[in-house]
Amino acid sequence: MKSQLSRLAFAGLLTAASLAGAQDYPTKAVNVIVPFAAGGPTDTLGRNLGVALTAPMKQQIIIENAGGAGGTIGINKVAKAKPDGYTLLLMHIGMSTAPSLYRKLPYDTMNDFEFIGQVADVPMTLIAKTALPPDNLKDLIKYVQANKATINLANAGIGAASHLCGLLFTSAIKTDLTTIPFTGTAPAMTALMGGQVDLMCDQTTNTTQQIKSGKVKVYGVTTKARVASLQFVPTLSEAGLPNFEVAVWHGLYAPKGTPKPVIDKLVASLQTAVQDATFKSRLNELGAQVVSKEKATPDSLRTHLQAEINKWAPIIKAAGIYAD
Ligand code: ASP
Repeated sequence: MKSQLSRLAFAGLLTAASLAGAQDYPTKAVNVIVPFAAGGPTDTLGRNLGVALTAPMKQQIIIENAGGAGGTIGINKVAKAKPDGYTLLLMHIGMSTAPSLYRKLPYDTMNDFEFIGQVADVPMTLIAKTALPPDNLKDLIKYVQANKATINLANAGIGAASHLCGLLFTSAIKTDLTTIPFTGTAPAMTALMGGQVDLMCDQTTNTTQQIKSGKVKVYGVTTKARVASLQFVPTLSEAGLPNFEVAVWHGLYAPKGTPKPVIDKLVASLQTAVQDATFKSRLNELGAQVVSKEKATPDSLRTHLQAEINKWAPIIKAAGIYAD
């Protein structure tokens, strides 16, 4: 009885201590895992978000790149991290497509995380090495169909946004292409500019500058409407692939079990960050949009993630693609 009581007292002390710790959070730098290579679109978003979070968090935000397997390696790292608020995850639409693309994932998408909020929406662009002959989408489709044995498509692995967009493209033109996976689309972009790979679908946060400086060819943007910072680029829909539409949304997550006061602090800080004028305009220059304060909430992220899982599952199933 006595030992049971002292165990209870000890547990109570521990809870009180961790709650007190949670109230003081954060007392040191916070790591945000970006599950792709440095220099790519998710990394760019993460670094801009990190700057915008620094003031409300009153701590430094450190971006840690953990690329591989379409982001699932980095996602799993966060699922298994200590739930103390010092390891977070920034991940895009791939959070919702990986459950359909992988036969088995090492984490449970809906149950291994605490949801903090949505962060930003980023259009994609279909781009090519400058030496690829076609200059518009209609010619590209004919060219790819006629040369499918030799044309390849770069991506950041199965589960990446570049993979999903490439899959939608090859399904729409009913032509399978060889894919070349990288740990992120930053190294894929280097290979594309160097002419080692032919085609890629990637976020405007990584492609805007290369398109504007003529280092890559562009065939269209993947959103319903043209992108303000790339007005001269048609939508893929208007250029010849009706209803082709995908925009990459991003969310901020913490490991399951992160204390509520810590999540509350993160949500409040994210809401301040998404209203930060510099963060917004920097993303606008790159064709992207920071979400409204209303979307930067746990409920909004959870609901959106579930809706996106439900949306992509039948599309991926129809495409017949699985990874082990
Ligand atoms: N844009 C990449 C993707 O295809 C990821 C990255 O490198 O940020 O998902």
